[in-house]
Amino acid sequence: MSNLDLFLAMEEGRPLPRAPNVSEVRTKVALPPSRLPGLDYALNPYVGCQHDCLYCYAPYVTKRPRSEWTNVLARTDLPLVLSREIKGKKGVIGLGTVTDPYQEAERHLLITRRCLMEIIPHGLKVSVLTKSDLILRDLELYRELPGEVGLTVTSISDALSREFEPGAPLPAKRLDALRQFSDAGINAYALVGPLLPVLEEKDAAELVDALVDTGIKWIMLDRFRSRPGMFHDIRSRCGGEIIGDRLESAHLRKDYKGLEAFIRKRCSETGLRCVDAF
Ligand code: SF4
Repeated sequence: MSNLDLFLAMEEGRPLPRAPNVSEVRTKVALPPSRLPGLDYALNPYVGCQHDCLYCYAPYVTKRPRSEWTNVLARTDLPLVLSREIKGKKGVIGLGTVTDPYQEAERHLLITRRCLMEIIPHGLKVSVLTKSDLILRDLELYRELPGEVGLTVTSISDALSREFEPGAPLPAKRLDALRQFSDAGINAYALVGPLLPVLEEKDAAELVDALVDTGIKWIMLDRFRSRPGMFHDIRSRCGGEIIGDRLESAHLRKDYKGLEAFIRKRCSETGLRCVDAF
């Protein structure tokens, strides 16, 4: 089934083919207020996330069991509910404040894309954050939206990415997406975060240099946010103690402030503006 057929199927209310571990859920509220700085509303097309990052703290915030996090609920009616709620609203919409709006399910379901099409005529700003180069599919829509496009890049190492973000596209694809948004004159930035417990200064230097090469003008720095039970869950999910123990002990020993200072210095030397996340 082509994307156009899928789009028509949704418009006409026909059943959709299902990707594994994806089911539909009804939307109660499309634009709840956001408590994140700089954002007025939160828009999340999916509950749960197929990127399955080891460090993800969203399940602990949303109180969804970590073991169910990759069983994704898709809000297929979100564009319709949004079209009713958005009238008269002003401000900034945070797209993907809890889960990734360009995780694999979006490739077929197009919920994020249809939401963007609803937002454009109303002129609200959109601040989107993703780990996927699938966002390039919607580059032309972002040309029409004021706001910012963020891609998370935690290292340039494929090995670290596979370990920490097993369901997400590799760093080179995210860097390429940043380059394309930057070349298109769109306000693009990289979220460098969370700082991985195993990241060394040489890795951070390579990362900053790679980000400078994309042409973006700024990055956002975020810390590793552990939650009670997170390392216990990592041990259970990785089928043993080795990864969980290694990460927890690296996290406890890590001099994050020193690493942050190193990254800020590298940014100022290379002309990249560096701001802190909330
Ligand atoms: S992309 Fe974000 S929401 Fe998805 S698993 Fe990773 S950290 Fe969690």
